[in-house]
Amino acid sequence: MVDSSPDAALRLFVLGGQHGDEPWGREAVARWIDHARRAIGDGTASRAVGLAAIVDTNPDGSFHGTRKNAGGVDLNRDHRALSTPETVAIHRFVRRYQPHLVVDVHNYPARRRQLLRRDWTIDTDVQFGVPTHPAIRTALGGSEWEDLTRSIAESLSEVGYSGAPYTLVRRSGRARPSTLETHDARNALALRYGIPTLLLEGRDPGRTRTPEATERTTRAQLASLQAATAWAIRHRELLERGPPLPTAGETVPFDARWVEDGSSAPVLVRHPSSGRSEWLTWPRFAGAVRIREEVALPRAYAVRSDLRPVIDLLERQELSGELVRSTRFALAEEVGNAPTDPPGSPGDRMVAGPVSSPIDLSGYVVYSTCQRGARALAVWLETGSRHGLLRGPLPEGTAGSDPRPALLRVRVWDYPPVSWGGNTLRTPGGMTFGCVGSLSRSEGVLAPPPAGSGPIELRSGTGGPAAAP
Ligand SMILES: [Zn+2]
Repeated sequence: MVDSSPDAALRLFVLGGQHGDEPWGREAVARWIDHARRAIGDGTASRAVGLAAIVDTNPDGSFHGTRKNAGGVDLNRDHRALSTPETVAIHRFVRRYQPHLVVDVHNYPARRRQLLRRDWTIDTDVQFGVPTHPAIRTALGGSEWEDLTRSIAESLSEVGYSGAPYTLVRRSGRARPSTLETHDARNALALRYGIPTLLLEGRDPGRTRTPEATERTTRAQLASLQAATAWAIRHRELLERGPPLPTAGETVPFDARWVEDGSSAPVLVRHPSSGRSEWLTWPRFAGAVRIREEVALPRAYAVRSDLRPVIDLLERQELSGELVRSTRFALAEEVGNAPTDPPGSPGDRMVAGPVSSPIDLSGYVVYSTCQRGARALAVWLETGSRHGLLRGPLPEGTAGSDPRPALLRVRVWDYPPVSWGGNTLRTPGGMTFGCVGSLSRSEGVLAPPPAGSGPIELRSGTGGPAAAP
């Protein structure tokens, strides 16, 4: 790992070799480090930019030439569960270093059965992926992502390589961008920490793996890494804004699907028999995300403390939660118990359920949504999420002897009203709290406002703004 300047204002982190059978990506990351070292050494690189990289995230896999690690786990499907020492270490590093951009380097197979049938292999030198789950909010918006990937494609083209958005052609003949799943580095790091993540997939040089083909893959991938680095430095003011902070009451889409929207995808294919390449416009392309379910972000999620697998996972993610040890009432609703619009209604949108009567939270672990990763809490805990931790209804047997719901959305904390930090908060029924207080730079744990700081403005559901008396 090279880490030229850990206190630099702009910090980039390149993650290489998650899959052990992709040596060309590892080689590109190693060369990128060499180039960066030389640039730093000869004074052409700014010391105000921090560069960190892992060449080989999966040393077991690279030793054996396997995609998975020695424990049989695909590391790039483990960024939600964090069940391996490798992914735990990556997340620990990300939390400490707080990069402004993560670049995840892979190689993709050019040969796909459904394309070979038509005598095609994919010929794009580098494909780019960006975060796709609609709950993700990072410093970069849609047009900025487009600018970044267009800039990489142009840089590649200038040096004789091709680049295009990552496109997966399915057996059905339909194509789409990367998955909406939240367990790979691209989506999980962006969802959990609000960090923009860029996927760079260099083409696997193919069966023959001639020196020319492998060198082309590595050079193209290095060129794409350098283009991404240059873009990040040019647009550092965008990246240094950091992710927007979560706010209770904001809408979090947690379940979505790819749909065809009339757009098409450019795919560079090669005819292996003739050696000819051509750009195709893939006609059946699902390039738009349709939101199926969403939720108004509650003030907190509460997980009953006997739901150990869920709590263990949130602990591995180092989401900040607090076990309630004595009687404390809240207005809350059961997760998975909110009414949804009938299927087929416009947008299949979910509406928030009614706020229930007060419930005692003792024995629940409460995860405030005033922290980084609050949107990940919604995606991972809402039982209607196909991209979450709990798919469908909670498993049988989770009820145990406690008749209270296993998962709650806490809308009003401390009901009836309490005094806090020298200010009294009124909590009329149905009120939603904003994030009152400040978020620390690292993990965004709620800090109470200073005493005597005057009235606290609250976002209100039904009761109008509350103020200190
Ligand atoms: Zn890979």
